[in-house]
Amino acid sequence: MPRRRSDRPGDPLALILKALAFSAHKHRDQRRKDPQASPYINHPIGLANVLRNEGGIRDEAVICAALLHDTVEDTETTPEELQREFGLRICRIVLEVTDDQRLPKQERKRLQIEHAPHLSRRAKLVKLADKICNLRDVANSPPARWDLERRRQYFEWAKQVVDGLRGVHARLERTFDEVYSQRPHP
Ligand code: ZN
Repeated sequence: MPRRRSDRPGDPLALILKALAFSAHKHRDQRRKDPQASPYINHPIGLANVLRNEGGIRDEAVICAALLHDTVEDTETTPEELQREFGLRICRIVLEVTDDQRLPKQERKRLQIEHAPHLSRRAKLVKLADKICNLRDVANSPPARWDLERRRQYFEWAKQVVDGLRGVHARLERTFDEVYSQRPHP
């Protein structure tokens, strides 16, 4: 099979834009749970922005995996499709941060805490950025139906996950701690 242009090394922007276009297409009918029902793609873009512009991450595999991180979990995207389009390296990172949707929600949340210390360095970065973005969203524009206790519990759970991956990126961990310090108090 002929290699696509964006598969060539040395053109990270091409691969990043391909991941962004792919993800935007896959999430095109989805909305966030915030009161404004923002387009879902804002969330993966937020992760990539945090990683590059707050964490200084230049590794395009991490940026692409951030853009794609919810495609397998939340759309009909298959691992085979990701591997074909973006290669095994990026596919693996996405699968590392993908919950098993066949399990009940509480079990999935427990497994995120349990798995965090065992993730690869790149997957830890994506997971850390995901928690930073999610806590910011819950702090700034929480889902309409989430009462204070639910928001508080979400902060505590996110901190447990992040505590399991510490040591991966000091600056982004400090960023997480700053966001966590704004947690709602009962
Ligand atoms: Zn996410």
